[in-house]
Amino acid sequence: MERMTGKKRLIAILVVLLVAGFLAVSLSVYRVARDTVLESISTHQLPLTGDNIYSEIQKDLLRPIFISSMMAQDTFLRDWALAGEGDEGAVIRYLKEIKDRYRTVTSFFVSERSRTYYHHSGRFKTVAETDERDSWYFRVRALTEPYEINVDPDWTNRETLTIFINYRVFDYQGRFLGATGVGLTVDTVRHLLESYQARFKRRITFVDRQGRVVMRGSVAHIGADNLAEAPGIGALAPVILATGPAGALFDYQHEGAQWLVNTRFIPELNWHLMVEQSVDESLKPAQAALVRSLAISALVTVIVTLLAAVVLNYFQRRLETMATTDPLTGLLNRQAMELVLAQSIREAERTKKPLAAILFDLDYFKAVNDRFGHQAGDKLLHRTAQTVRRALRASDVVGRWGGEEFLVALKDCPLDQARGLADKIRAALAEEAAGQTEEPRLVTVSLGVALHRSGETLESLVGRADAALYRAKEGGRDRAEAEAF
Ligand code: GH3
Ligand code: MG
Ligand code: MG
Repeated sequence: MERMTGKKRLIAILVVLLVAGFLAVSLSVYRVARDTVLESISTHQLPLTGDNIYSEIQKDLLRPIFISSMMAQDTFLRDWALAGEGDEGAVIRYLKEIKDRYRTVTSFFVSERSRTYYHHSGRFKTVAETDERDSWYFRVRALTEPYEINVDPDWTNRETLTIFINYRVFDYQGRFLGATGVGLTVDTVRHLLESYQARFKRRITFVDRQGRVVMRGSVAHIGADNLAEAPGIGALAPVILATGPAGALFDYQHEGAQWLVNTRFIPELNWHLMVEQSVDESLKPAQAALVRSLAISALVTVIVTLLAAVVLNYFQRRLETMATTDPLTGLLNRQAMELVLAQSIREAERTKKPLAAILFDLDYFKAVNDRFGHQAGDKLLHRTAQTVRRALRASDVVGRWGGEEFLVALKDCPLDQARGLADKIRAALAEEAAGQTEEPRLVTVSLGVALHRSGETLESLVGRADAALYRAKEGGRDRAEAEAF
């Protein structure tokens, strides 16, 4: 029982060590992976995405700004306006030519004198200061810079999302003649948003200075039309809208997930660009690796534990056998025999049932050793043990008490019966010897029988059996003697 708990403790320690070791390794590897992923997202991926989109926008804007600048400097346009905007067809052809050649979405000229909006498809309308939709013209008119970039405020139809370059036109004396320019789609930028969204699950949103969402990928994360009203990220609206062109990184929780958002202001557009990435999404590979490594660790722990249990059991059994068995005869050894006999004595005291002991010794065994050698003597001892074992009941205990001395403990066995058993042993050995053709043959034995007396010690019981055995030897050997009463 003691040994059992020792074994269990050993296995428990093994399991604890394995689990703790595997957990520590797996978790620390995961933490490093997670930190690396987070570091990479916040310092590389998100800013680089922002840089790419920004440079793409700049590239997209450069050409139309140049075209609009050319239009504003064009002598035909200026002369035509100065001459009183006579042939409308001429300016419309001019605008159409610009639009077709440079593949812009639209081209226009608004005359300050007549407040007419000329469009590549024909005369458009008259702009009025009272019309909200014409407010852009009056803003351009009051501009100190040569041009502005304006985004069509009608965002309901995403396909026609247009960026206008509104260039101021002057006559040769520097008097304001009106505004001209082109409009372009933001398809390139939009495709970029979609590809980032598809490839990296990054969400890209543009908001204007007031936080109104002006452009976003098709999988809109910021559901609201205004940043401030968006769940999660909405709370960050003031800091995002206060971020300059240098950019900043924020993080927020939305629907139980953590998001990182890199934001920057794009002065050319007057827009804030936000690139977002779900931390959880990015950590999925690392988490999957963690789960895999934990599963493998669990498997290894189970296998190692089972293996340890099997090996421990095997060695425990072997140790037990080695500790109690006599290797030469396979019978109980002296220590085990003493334990068994002591236990039998306690039992006999309790149950008041008779307990008998037979001590026997091989006759003239020295002669066998001398004639056939020690090894042959050993074989004979083994064979004697086998024969005696077969002659007894399974419940009778027999052990090797000394060199060629054996002790039998017989529970619930009166003296007469014990004496009978002693003769049975002798007869069995004689029979076995008779059947033998090879030397050395089994030798006879002398036996001493004793019955345990109430309160008697083990030593005394065996001593009395030994005394009886001595008498059997004295009496001529090959016989059994019982104790004298
Ligand atoms: P007896 O008992 O009849 O008086 O004569 P004996 O020749 O058997 O004398 P005793 O019992 O005194 O001697 C025991 C001999 O048994 C001496 C010893 O060398 C031998 N012996 C004891 N143990 C072993 C053993 O394990 N193997 C072998 N081969 N011989 C052993
Ligand atoms: Mg002897
Ligand atoms: Mg002997």
